[in-house]
Amino acid sequence: MRIDVVSIFPEYLAPLELSLIGKARQDGLLDLHVHDLRDFTTDKHRSVDDTPYGGGAGMVMKAEPWAQALASVAEARGVQDSKPVLIVPSPAGERFNQALAYELAEEDQLVFACGRYEGIDERVIEWAEEHFTVRPVSLGDYVLNGGEVAVLAMVEAIGRLLPGVVGNPESLVEESHSDGLLEYPVYTKPASWRDRDVPAVLLSGNHGKIAQWRRHEQYRRTAERRPDLLESLDAGTLPRADRTV
Ligand code: SAM
Repeated sequence: MRIDVVSIFPEYLAPLELSLIGKARQDGLLDLHVHDLRDFTTDKHRSVDDTPYGGGAGMVMKAEPWAQALASVAEARGVQDSKPVLIVPSPAGERFNQALAYELAEEDQLVFACGRYEGIDERVIEWAEEHFTVRPVSLGDYVLNGGEVAVLAMVEAIGRLLPGVVGNPESLVEESHSDGLLEYPVYTKPASWRDRDVPAVLLSGNHGKIAQWRRHEQYRRTAERRPDLLESLDAGTLPRADRTV
C-alpha cells in the first residue's frame, strides 16, 4: 500500500518511522510519503491560510496550495483504473472505527490531508472529488488542533492490518472490535502477584474451558464498558450459549 500525508507539520508524522509501522516501511510493506504543504505555495511567505469569508474567528486553509499538493500526489501514483482515496480528517466526518480500518486496508493508495486552523476551504473538497474518492473521517467527537494526530492513529490502525505487518496474524482475530466485542482480560507470569491470582481456568490447560471463559469475559466486559456495542451486534453470528450476559 502507498500512503501520502500532506501537512504543514511534516515532522509531526515522525512516529510513523517507529515500531511496527516503521518496520513495515523498511520491509517494503508500506510505502509512506509525507509532504509539506508549504512546498506547494508560490508566495515568499509560503502562506497557507487566510481570513474566513463571512468573518469570524480563526483562519482558513487556502485552496490553491492544497490543489497543487493533491494534484502532485495523484500524479505520482500514475494512471490507475480507480481513483485514490483521499481521507480528510475532520470532526465533522464519519467516525473512524475498526470496520473502516479494514475497509481502507484494502485500498492500494490512501492520501491524508491534514487540516489546521478552522479547516480547509470547502471548494478543495468539491474539486478533489473529481480526482479522488473523498472521505471526511473523524477520530471521535472532540476537536483536535490539526489532522496529524488523527492520521497517526488511522495509519497505525490501518497499517497493522496489512499482510505481514503484525507478526502473528492470529492476534488480529482475537482483539477488541474484530468481532464486535471487546477483548477478554489478559495476564502473564507470575501466576500470583501482590496477592492477586490469575484466574485458575487459564492455568488448567483445558483449551475448551479457556475459550469459553474468554468468550464469557468478552461479553461481560463489553456489557459493562460498551453496552452500545452489544446492541449493534448481530446475535445471529454467535452461538446463543455464549450470550451469558
Ligand atoms: N473548525 C473545525 C470544526 O469545528 O469542525 C475544527 C478545525 S480543527 C481546530 C483543525 C483540524 O484538526 C481539522 O481541519 C481536522 O483536520 C483536524 N481535526 C480536529 N478534530 C478532529 C477529529 N475529531 N477527527 C479528525 N480530525 C480532526
